[in-house]
Order: sequence, then C-alpha cells, then structure tokens
Amino acid sequence: MPTSCTSHVLVTGGSGFIGSHTVLELINQGHKVVVVDNLSNSCEEPLRRIEKLAGLNEESLPFHNVDLANIDDLRAVFKQYNFSSVIHFAALKAVGESVRVPLAYYRNNITGTLNLMDLMIEFGVKDIVFSSSATVYKSDPDGRPFREDSELGCTSPYGRTKLYMESIIRDVVGAESGWNAIMLRYFNPTGAHESGTMGEDPCQIPNNLMPYVSQVAIGKLDNVHVFGNDYNTRDGTGVRDYIHVMDLAEAHVIALERLTGNHGYEVFNLGSGAGQSVLEMIDAMSIACGHKIPYVVDPRRSGDIDTIVCDPKKANEVLGFKVSRDLTKMCTDLWRWQVANPEGYNQ
Ligand code: NAD
Ligand code: UDP
Repeated sequence: MPTSCTSHVLVTGGSGFIGSHTVLELINQGHKVVVVDNLSNSCEEPLRRIEKLAGLNEESLPFHNVDLANIDDLRAVFKQYNFSSVIHFAALKAVGESVRVPLAYYRNNITGTLNLMDLMIEFGVKDIVFSSSATVYKSDPDGRPFREDSELGCTSPYGRTKLYMESIIRDVVGAESGWNAIMLRYFNPTGAHESGTMGEDPCQIPNNLMPYVSQVAIGKLDNVHVFGNDYNTRDGTGVRDYIHVMDLAEAHVIALERLTGNHGYEVFNLGSGAGQSVLEMIDAMSIACGHKIPYVVDPRRSGDIDTIVCDPKKANEVLGFKVSRDLTKMCTDLWRWQVANPEGYNQ
C-alpha cells in the first residue's frame, strides 16, 4: 500500500524542457504531481521556478532524483505514492549523439520504459501519456503533412527508440485489461514560459535551430549556420512545424484528462500544421530581439529533408486541441527567457 492516499500524476523527465512546462500547467490545473528525473540533461532549478510561479512553498514539489534504469529506486517511489497516471518524458533526445552512441540510447530509453511499464503493472497504474516525436514518420519526399496513419520509419537510433517505445506501450495496452495510453508526436517545440523564468537550457552548444538562433541573438555564438539553401521550399531552406512549449504543455493536460474516458491506445500529432523555413525563423527572432541576427549558409546537414509538417486535424477534432500561440509569441517568449537567463538555469 502506498504511504500517501492522495492521487498523484508521476512525471518522468519532469525537470527537462517540455516536462517542466507541463508540470507547471498540471499544477495550475489542479493536479498533484511527483517528478522523477536523473538530472542527466537538466537540474533542479526549474522545479524551484515552478514552485514560485504556482505559488507553492519552496521545495514542496515532490522530486526524486532517480534513474529509470534503476528499477529498485523507481519501485521505492511507486511504493510511496498513489499514482493515478504517468506522463513519460524521460529520454535521451539528441539525434546526432544517438548515431555515435546508439547503445546508450537504446539502454536509457528502452530500459527506462520497460522498468516503468513493469512497475505500472505491478502497482496497477494503467494510464500513460508518452512523449513521442515527428521523427517516427518515414520521410515524405513531397513534404505532405504527416497524419497519424502515415507510414512510419526512422533513420536514427533515437527515432527507433521512440518507435520501439510506442510499440512496447501499444503491446502492453493490448495484453493487459483496462489500460489507456496516448502517444503525443511532437513536431518542433520552441518558445518559453511567458514569465521569462522557465525555458530551454541546452547543456552544450544547441543542436536545434531555435536555441542556437537565440544564443546568436544574445551574442554567445557568432552566426547561425543555415544548413542548406537548396531545398525544394519557398526560400530554399528547411521547413518545419514549430509549436510553443506552453501549447504542448496544455495538450498534455488535455491528453491526461482524456485517459479517464477509456479509449485504449491512441496517437496524436502535436503541431500547428503550418511550416516555417529556417530564414523565416531567423527573421521572426530578429524582430523579437530588435536587431538583425547574422547567419551563414552551410551545406545541408546529413539526414535532413525539405519539409516536415503535421496534419493537426485529429488532435483538433478528438482532443479539442489547437495551438493558440503564434510564431511572434514563440519568439518573444524565447527572447524574454534568453535575456533574463543568459546562462540558462546556472545563474
Ligand atoms: P530534456 O532533455 O530537456 O528532458 C528530458 C529529461 O529526462 C531530462 O531532464 C533528463 O535529465 C531526463 N532523463 C533522461 N533519461 C533519464 C532516465 N534514464 N531517468 C530519469 N530521467 C531521465 O528533453 P525535452 O526536450 O524536454 O524532451 C522531453 C521528451 O520529449 C523526450 O522524450 C524527447 O525525446 C521528446 N521530444 C522532444 C522534442 C524536442 O525537440 N525537444 C521533440 C520531440 C519529442
Ligand atoms: N537547422 C539549421 N541550423 C541549425 C540547426 C538546424 O539550419 O543550427 C535547420 C535544420 O536543417 C532544419 C531546421 O533548422 O531544417 C530545424 O532543425 P532542428 O534541428 O531544430 O529540428 P529537426 O526538425 O531537425 O528535428
């Protein structure tokens, strides 16, 4: 029997970028949350910022520094609380790194998920929302918007871990009675909380476009390197579907609440359905920061394709979810966070 009778949502990876914004939104919507994270790509400071924004006492947000690979440590957390559901963010996520050290990605992402699912079965917790990604789709040379039933296929070990994790969860839902699972396939998350106190804090030189652009804007890096301007797009640079992290956070709360409707296994895209090119993103960020952001054009990055955008219809119609923050808001919020926290959470 758990020590606590109150029902909690377990959030794995809850001190990371998307997890921390979601934890704040969950608390604001009245949910009780427990965060598990091994801090391999984050720190505890976002949790302190969440407490301030949510009006909680300092260090009152339950946090356990646990690696999902360690099932005994994780079991101790399950013993302590009465979990109603799980939102599973914890994963390694750098595509390039996953090509260099694939076993670390398989070990971390797959073992962590297997342990989590084992414990959910052991403790009778049957509802899960999972962080999946647009990377699970097989690339489409014509750049058509991906639907949830588009063909799947990955080109990196990271992407394959996401596909395998989706499959593991789907198979458990099929084998066990009473389970509900929602896979959320995110497109390109960016932006920050509008307070300017929470945002993305890449531990190294950013791999992704927007944190890189924002570090150039503040002068920490010299130029944006635009990876190719000979794509079949309106200005030759790659087009992606950017989504504000607070829209994502809100979508997780909607998904969590849908789990109680017993719909079994479901998959949803989370994106705007619109695409922006690299140059359009640099221009939008230049407007937000009030000066021109310098860039140079480099060769294409291996593995990139022209256009990746989603068809957001299913999330609109079934979840009732639609993005409400536009490109200007993504850039102004990102810039506010960057200016207030030039060194990220390590002030
Ligand atoms: P993040 O790295 O900021 O957050 C992930 C968190 O998980 C980190 O705090 C890290 O310390 C923790 N973690 C990793 N392995 C762990 C383990 N074994 N045990 C406990 N904690 C562990 O990443 P994010 O951008 O917030 O992404 C969250 C999720 O969304 C990930 O699963 C990622 O694959 C997925 N996703 C991210 C993007 C994106 O562009 N950011 C896009 C699509 C999907
Ligand atoms: N990109 C770029 N320079 C960078 C990082 C990314 O030109 O420093 C481009 C990349 O080629 C793609 C888009 O920006 O067209 C988004 O890349 P990101 O890595 O942010 O996300 P992805 O869609 O690849 O997951």
